[in-house]
Amino acid sequence: MSWVKDLPKIAETIGADTVLRDGKIITVDEDDSIAQAMAIKYGRIAYVGTNDGVTPYIGNQTKVIDLKCGCVTPGLITSHEHFLRYGLNALFGIDLWYPKVKSIRDIIDAVAEKARETTKGEWIFGWGWDENLLKEKRYPNRWDLDEAAPKNPVYLGRVYQKVAANSLALKIAGVTRDTPDPEYGKVYKDEDGEPTGVFLTILPSANPFEEMMPKINTQRKEEAIVKACHDYNAEGMTTVVDAVVGAAEPDDLVAYQNTRMRGELTARIYALYGFVRTVKQAKETIQHVSTYGDDMFKVGGIKLSLDGGVVPKTGYFYDPYIGEPTNFGRTKWTKEDLTEAIRLFHDAGFQTCTHTIGDKAIDWVLDGIENAMKLNPRPDPRHQIIHIYYPTAEAIDRVKRLGVMANVQSTFIHFEGDTYTRFLGPRGACVKPLKTFIKKGIAVGNSHDYPSGPIPARIGLWAAITRETFEGNVICPEERLTVQEALKTYTIWNAKHLFMENKIGSLEPGKYADLVAWDTNLYDAPTEKIKDMRAEMTMLNGEIVYEAQGSQWKRKDQ
Ligand SMILES: [Zn+2]
Repeated sequence: MSWVKDLPKIAETIGADTVLRDGKIITVDEDDSIAQAMAIKYGRIAYVGTNDGVTPYIGNQTKVIDLKCGCVTPGLITSHEHFLRYGLNALFGIDLWYPKVKSIRDIIDAVAEKARETTKGEWIFGWGWDENLLKEKRYPNRWDLDEAAPKNPVYLGRVYQKVAANSLALKIAGVTRDTPDPEYGKVYKDEDGEPTGVFLTILPSANPFEEMMPKINTQRKEEAIVKACHDYNAEGMTTVVDAVVGAAEPDDLVAYQNTRMRGELTARIYALYGFVRTVKQAKETIQHVSTYGDDMFKVGGIKLSLDGGVVPKTGYFYDPYIGEPTNFGRTKWTKEDLTEAIRLFHDAGFQTCTHTIGDKAIDWVLDGIENAMKLNPRPDPRHQIIHIYYPTAEAIDRVKRLGVMANVQSTFIHFEGDTYTRFLGPRGACVKPLKTFIKKGIAVGNSHDYPSGPIPARIGLWAAITRETFEGNVICPEERLTVQEALKTYTIWNAKHLFMENKIGSLEPGKYADLVAWDTNLYDAPTEKIKDMRAEMTMLNGEIVYEAQGSQWKRKDQ
């Protein structure tokens, strides 16, 4: 676009819309340079440099802001979230993520509080509990939840497809002591054979509540998207991948479009259509879905899921789990079907993004990608492996060779790292070998996978730098990143996952003015401070989309 090329000249001639000056602007450009000032015109960056250099861009109408904050960084990008679900849970459900909830008692209190404002008989739902982070180190059960809300069915989803429900919910779903374990699932029972209210639901078909839960209408989804945008903006994020959109409920896409058309979308959304679970579904999908959209809302990829997780011992490995010599984990696809689905989507022009944990599962996906690329050498497809916990050394070389994107969640290292080493032994520690990926030149993109992790990117930055677990162990210290590298996993490298590295991910002329003013100087701060740093102001397309209350990010005298 020639006007973007001419933007500096345009801004200098007629004046910039906004000038930021007198700050520490971490640009994340090629040289990782720190600038003092920036000029913005038409939502894009016209100039980055010094206070003197920005002066010619100041016209009569230019809003000039003297920065008074720790630093400015590019708006953060997170490449794997359940964004719409976050908004729904935040508005209408209960967020059960640590540190909001630290014990079963906290869960009971949170559910009881919700019950007080909910009509008798209506469902209460929540997401984000993790028994490893609870004081009691056990699952919440039906009896706990009966105490909190005896007159409402209660459904509390956990990371890794576990559910805790109360007695009324069990009654509605017809679950009794005679209910057998479904395929891809488990009904937990006590010593007397009574269901405890806890379920493992690897696939939705194993979830007895799947059909019972009230459907959420499009308008509520739109409200949820606006809420999610606000909360992600408040943590410095301006671009989000929503990882599962449209397949179960096509109006997800309508909700995004409506929000966008009303100008209420304050984060760029790159949506993955999914889940796609069978070859038949893959064939149907390419008949009625295509990539479309623009830099604000786009359907760009397809979500597939191959294996499970380490915590439920369903990640698929060459070697078994500790103490379970016949348990190698499991997959939801045969290798043949997965290979065929990847080929179909590759040929249809999609980026495939596959949930993959164990070393053997990773090899299957790489085989599938290599096969598709060999049969049809479509340039630069950027297929993605989501989670990519335990690649072998050869797999890491193949990831590089095939141009595969490594999509990681460094927050998991903190919250689940102790469980990995317990269930896998010493090999569990080197989960997500971030430094090795980077040394090989692989584009590492970071994210939180809410509700599998809490959303603040500052925790992810800190966890990538420290690899410190919940119990205070540092696992596989040689894979720790520098602060500069950690920031790139949330900016320029993540932009590659979305094919947007020429538009976002660094603060350079011609790119969108997506940026954050933080209260802390990320590059100078003691590492411990990073996980508590605060976004003072977040800007998207040169417009302020979030400002902290009582914020100090600019000088008062303006
Ligand atoms: Zn996910």
